[in-house]
Amino acid sequence: MPLAIACVAICGCNSLPVARLAQPDPEPPAVASGTIPSLPGAHEARVAPFLFRSDRPLPEKHPALTTAASLRDRVAKELKIPPARGVILVYIFGEKGSFDQYLRKRYPQLPSRRAFFVAQGRQGGRDEDLMVLTWWSDRLEQDLRHELTHALLHSALPDVPLWLDEGLAEYFELEDFPLVRKERLTQVLADFNKPDRPDMSRLEGLRDIQQMGREEYRESWAWAHWMLKGPPEARAALLTALVDLRSGRKISLVERIEKVLPNARQQMVAHMRQLDESPAP
Ligand SMILES: [Zn+2]
Repeated sequence: MPLAIACVAICGCNSLPVARLAQPDPEPPAVASGTIPSLPGAHEARVAPFLFRSDRPLPEKHPALTTAASLRDRVAKELKIPPARGVILVYIFGEKGSFDQYLRKRYPQLPSRRAFFVAQGRQGGRDEDLMVLTWWSDRLEQDLRHELTHALLHSALPDVPLWLDEGLAEYFELEDFPLVRKERLTQVLADFNKPDRPDMSRLEGLRDIQQMGREEYRESWAWAHWMLKGPPEARAALLTALVDLRSGRKISLVERIEKVLPNARQQMVAHMRQLDESPAP
């Protein structure tokens, strides 16, 4: 039996805490007894590095497929990460019921959510199987953008800091959803009224996914947005950090950012206020 490590990110992270499991995930008894419902497989479509398997037809121009292609290109372009090694499987169940039933049987430790990213391998790291599980909800494209970002990051980087992983997934999820992003902005600016916010070093100190609540997701998104759309020094620090993460080095992004931008906090808040005042794209 392979030692499996499940690293699970839960979509809808904007409204619910994420659970990430890093403990061995032995095959549950239900596998042996054959009671786990089968994964979708009636229809298949390939948008490299993703291989979609779905209970419903996936015609060539379906938004799920075009979303995957544009996201793949955008993540590579903005983060300068190399193409994914291997295939990333994307299972789309036709109905919520069959999706929930599969999750309950296969991953009984997980809470109920619309979508998951799962990295499962022998010891974590570079030989993991990466897959996304979701169902045909009316938020399919938005959910895919979040979870496929996790998959692309994990295919290129052996280890991604928790807050940065979620911040970047949120960033790529929301860029094509201006109304949702606007709502997020209002919330994050309200969060920043607290005297000790924002604080990247606090986020960097979070090791357990249970510590990531709604506010931590919002702040991670805000930092990711600022680094990618704000001053070039912040973007350069992020891209250098991603290069180091690719080679397995541990990094402190906050130290690097503060070295080049000592007033990063104020700059980030100003960036968010400016974004809030700009008309929706
Ligand atoms: Zn996530």
